[in-house]
Amino acid sequence: MSDPANRQARRRFLKIAVVGAAMAPVAASLLPRIARADTPHVDPKDPTAAALGYTEDAATAKGDPSYKPNSNCANCNFFKGHSEMAYGPCDLFPGKDVNAKGWCRSWTAKA
Ligand code: SF4
Repeated sequence: MSDPANRQARRRFLKIAVVGAAMAPVAASLLPRIARADTPHVDPKDPTAAALGYTEDAATAKGDPSYKPNSNCANCNFFKGHSEMAYGPCDLFPGKDVNAKGWCRSWTAKA
């Protein structure tokens, strides 16, 4: 165990383990963005989206009777993305992402 080749191999392993542990948080923060890159966005013309008045820009919904000031997908209870995401998953549109700045009539304040 104390021969030089074993000590060098152990040092190399420890260096890789330390670098790997240091990189884990960075990789964890990038993974959701990379994983979501291929997720299609909800088309406002999609029948369900249109029925809910989904728009990519909440500012355009201000004339809708259901619109609440400052409401948007990012602060909706159904939005499952995190704060830095431009698009993220919504419980109402499985398999597709909605715009964080979007809005629809099902908006519900985050609990
Ligand atoms: S339910 Fe909420 S997150 Fe989903 S599209 Fe409507 S406002 Fe956006």
